[in-house]
Amino acid sequence: MLLHIGIDDTDSPEGGCTTYVAALLVEKLEGMGCRFVDYPNLLRLNPNAPWKTRGNGSICLRVEAPEGGEAEFKKAVIDAVESHAEFQCDNTNPGVVFHEGAVPEALKKFHDDVVQTIVHLEEAERLIAEHCASAVAWKNRRGLIGALAAVGGTLEGDHTYELLTYRVPEKRGKKRLVELESVRSVEARLPETFNSVDPETGQVLIAPRGPDPVLYGVRGETPESVLAAMKMIEVDEPVERWCIFRTNQGTDAHLARAYTVSDLKPRHPSTITGIVEGKHRVIEGGHVIFTIADGSGRVDCAAYEPSGSFRDTVMRLREGDEVRVAGGVRETEMGLTLNLERLEALSLAVEQRLVNPRCPACGGATESMGRGQGLRCKKCGHREVGLTKVTEEVPRGIKPGIYLPPPRAERHLTKPFKRYGREHRGTPEKLAAPWHSG
Ligand SMILES: [Zn+2]
Repeated sequence: MLLHIGIDDTDSPEGGCTTYVAALLVEKLEGMGCRFVDYPNLLRLNPNAPWKTRGNGSICLRVEAPEGGEAEFKKAVIDAVESHAEFQCDNTNPGVVFHEGAVPEALKKFHDDVVQTIVHLEEAERLIAEHCASAVAWKNRRGLIGALAAVGGTLEGDHTYELLTYRVPEKRGKKRLVELESVRSVEARLPETFNSVDPETGQVLIAPRGPDPVLYGVRGETPESVLAAMKMIEVDEPVERWCIFRTNQGTDAHLARAYTVSDLKPRHPSTITGIVEGKHRVIEGGHVIFTIADGSGRVDCAAYEPSGSFRDTVMRLREGDEVRVAGGVRETEMGLTLNLERLEALSLAVEQRLVNPRCPACGGATESMGRGQGLRCKKCGHREVGLTKVTEEVPRGIKPGIYLPPPRAERHLTKPFKRYGREHRGTPEKLAAPWHSG
């Protein structure tokens, strides 16, 4: 029997991690005779959802389970959630959904809606009643949304891999002892890995901060690349266990919907095409704001200070440039603002300025002699009353193309530059060996 187990929202800012519960269950379920038909799927959901805990990630385990053992497998899953979820946190509302057989289209669509929009609990409960074998929810039941979305997130389109390693309990909450140089060599030597190091700052991005059980997570295009990376990364503390996940991270899955300005909705990740109006403003904190219009209205777009050199690119935009922008939409007192996650310069306005011509005699720079007095060469002194200013195209310092914030400021879902042209399709026919510890 094909069994899909969706799990969501077991973590809190103070600790825990839904992927850790998944890694424990991998070993447990295999021990009970289940055969995994896919890597555990790690689905990042709408990063702008108001009730997200940390990374807004949910998990689906997909197994071929021995007939007759359903009750036993479900109990193992519920026990794992109950022993590891951070129930004391107000924002932690775990949910588990069990689905048997092929995943229906309605659940796949529900997954896309949860990644790209705001979905309500009633919709999840209706679909669970209609399609799923059973579900368990704790506290305010909201975890059912992510758990059901995980079941529907079959990752048949673009996807990537992340190998997560976990710490032994004694080390949790303490400084992570990962050898930074070994991570930098992964970035340099394994081209199929991505976002291990920020190229601008050299900052290592694989180790989270905070008390959760993750030691590090290394991202790549294939299971083989993340496994090779784990072999290269040196750590000075024990690794309790590790597991490879297949995921929508780094795929821009959240930015798939195009909107007009008048259709924008708060918290819905959106893509809009429009024309830059006026000049950018730099506001307190170093954030850069500019306005675009598309015929249906105008909206402010913001590049935040942590996006570093991306702001410099944004500041080179001029009135009349045609751009496609993508990101989360936030409601402020001033109206809606799109928080830029991607900027595509489609066509750039030609900007001209008036400049003094070069000297016709020697080619030197000229200066004005005053109103109606013409120009004089600063080098040879040549004067010409008839000589006047000429127009010149201003160099823009920006070309048509795609611009992204640096990896250190990217969201889990943002597709990094390195991935353009490397997109995958389909689901794995067999799993790499090994794909988890234990
Ligand atoms: Zn001259």
